[in-house]
Amino acid sequence: MSSTRIDADTLRRLPKAVLHDHLDGGLRPATVVELAETVGHTLPTTDPDELAAWYFDAANSGDLVRYIATFEHTLAVLQNREGLLRAAEEYVLDLAADGVVYGEVRYAPELNTNGDLTMSEVVETVQEGLAAGMAKAAAAGTPVQVRTLLCGMRMFDRVGEAADLAVAFRDAGVVGFDIAGAEDGFPPADHLAAFEHLRRESVPFTIHAGEAHGLPSIHQALQVCGAQRIGHGVRITEDIVDGKLGRLAGWVRDRRIALEMCPTSNLQTGAATSIAGHPITALKDLGFRVTLNTDNRLVSGTTMTREMSLLVEEAGWTVEDLRTVTVNALKSAFIPYDERKALIEDVVLPGYASAL
Ligand SMILES: [Zn+2]
Repeated sequence: MSSTRIDADTLRRLPKAVLHDHLDGGLRPATVVELAETVGHTLPTTDPDELAAWYFDAANSGDLVRYIATFEHTLAVLQNREGLLRAAEEYVLDLAADGVVYGEVRYAPELNTNGDLTMSEVVETVQEGLAAGMAKAAAAGTPVQVRTLLCGMRMFDRVGEAADLAVAFRDAGVVGFDIAGAEDGFPPADHLAAFEHLRRESVPFTIHAGEAHGLPSIHQALQVCGAQRIGHGVRITEDIVDGKLGRLAGWVRDRRIALEMCPTSNLQTGAATSIAGHPITALKDLGFRVTLNTDNRLVSGTTMTREMSLLVEEAGWTVEDLRTVTVNALKSAFIPYDERKALIEDVVLPGYASAL
């Protein structure tokens, strides 16, 4: 059974799950403009539409380092309670409007401490904003569960502190951990002590790897650090020749390691050259546990609905394929098994059944 046409409204209503999306990469342009005014930060433009275009163009340079530099302006408005509360609440509402029923939001609290807030206060404030957003979304009839992954910045020295907070807030909505930032020159094993601490505490984690840097970073993330998922991981294809899997690719597929793939983001950073040729399709067809994600919705000018639409239009994906990656995401979500199972059986499968 394959679907010949999927209209935009059907796509938007399909239940979705997103595992890889950055809080500071997903603000509404109008919110950045308003918050920047309150804190006296100068933006490239104060017109929301022009600002959205500026972000997209700056991120389109094909260079991960320049892409990350666009975060200067979003982070400037996320240094106080007002900005964090608003960003977190709107984050949830925007996911709900996109048809997302489960999301894991990630951010590095160390990047929000230029004002008066400590890292711990940053986490408390974001959780408060997320809770407010979830209450509003549920009241509006579009319930979405959003949980948090805390990140440490791999090129700085506060990864251990961020990992400590992931442990401290594990019963308050934080479900896992990640390291973010420039991959080149900052291998995951630099932070082995933090990952060992998380493993001892049974806190799951994912690691950005195999985006800017190739197979060695994926190998380190999985086999040295012990990550349960991989952020991006597109370059695992370098270990697959004529459909034959090398040992590392075999490990990823056979151990059901989720790959958090972000097609549009990968085009912008140069990790992939087209949607049609993005490794997500080949890896899906080879039986890898691929998941579909937005990464940074503002910077990439995207949504989950748009990512799905691109794969349908340019890579021949069917509704069944979209269901597969959604179920994959929930299977590998960092919430407990019974909650994952309930979302799959009670929300996702019925939602797709009614669309097919
Ligand atoms: Zn990312």
